Amino acid sequence: LLATLAAGSMLALAACSGGSGGGGEGGGDGGLIGVAMPTKSSERWIQDGDAVKEQLEEQGFTVDLQYAEDDIPTQVSQIENMITKGAEALIIASIDGTTLSQVLQDAADADIPVIAYDRLIRDSENVDYYASFDNYIVGVQQATSLLNGLGLTDLEGAPAADAPAGPFNIELFAGSPDDNNATFFWNGAIDTLQPYIDEGTLVVKSGQTDFEQAAILRWDGEVAQERMENILTSTYSDGSTVNAVLSPYDGLSRGIISALTDAGYSVGEGWPIISGQDAELDSVKAINSGEQYATIFKDTRELATVAVDMASAILNGEEPEVNNTEDYDNGVKVVPSYLLESAIVVKDNITEILVDSGYWTEEEING
Ligand code: BGC
Repeated sequence: LLATLAAGSMLALAACSGGSGGGGEGGGDGGLIGVAMPTKSSERWIQDGDAVKEQLEEQGFTVDLQYAEDDIPTQVSQIENMITKGAEALIIASIDGTTLSQVLQDAADADIPVIAYDRLIRDSENVDYYASFDNYIVGVQQATSLLNGLGLTDLEGAPAADAPAGPFNIELFAGSPDDNNATFFWNGAIDTLQPYIDEGTLVVKSGQTDFEQAAILRWDGEVAQERMENILTSTYSDGSTVNAVLSPYDGLSRGIISALTDAGYSVGEGWPIISGQDAELDSVKAINSGEQYATIFKDTRELATVAVDMASAILNGEEPEVNNTEDYDNGVKVVPSYLLESAIVVKDNITEILVDSGYWTEEEING
């Protein structure tokens, strides 16, 4: 028996140190995978981290999951640590897409494959694959949810037969400028809204139409709240009201909602249409209560599966499945990508999209 055990653990050790896996059918080899997530301050990344860890463990891998609380040096040292501990692959959702070049060179020198998770890692050739959603379409969906809420289109963006003439006042928010996704969301949204702005149906009354003016560093809800307060003071003190707010993330939407409430807006007549992203629980509740009109649901469980399958394929010497080899140029190379589809959630389809899929329970939403 001892001999068998010893032989067994020798084999396991050999497999572990191999670097290129060979875990066999559907399985990891017990090797370590490093998973670097940006922050626990947003619910979605906790769900991402949990899902990636669980699915990697199901495949037999060992997981080092770390959160960096949106601090770049912390994320860099966490990844360094993973390399030192002998990680066989890295799955990284970066904080700032441009600050990992050195640590990724260290990973490459140690033959460790790197998968960019949700956010593209920029300015490095040492990014092997990218698992994400179609981020441009996410932006299109955010803008479409606003058009729908204003009565101008249906949820697919087709013009409504009895569309009101407007004009509607709209204000625009963008995500963190160091997150590659933020410009994709912005471009998708602006391309969708621009025809309505050009014809005068939508008016950006503050005049703040540049990405730089709209961007919120690190996706910080409090900064969004301050910006909304400033816009309400500078632009809407003349008795006019804001009718719609483009928000690219639920955490920003909550800040924007606070600013509106503090300024005397109340849900019902005159309350603006507000978009979002991530289907965070508090925001799903806000959709139910009418404070937020819509969010964009990106199933973190599916994204985890894509990333885990990529890591597992690479370590088994196979080619990971990709479906986009054009759109995600990181400044050095086009990173082969697998992009998932997202969905617009409004009050009417919360059950169909979020409850029936098991993402949130009825009790969580209504409790
Ligand atoms: C993600 C979004 C998220 C945002 C803020 C983006 O990179 O794609 O889903 O809302 O970061 O965390």
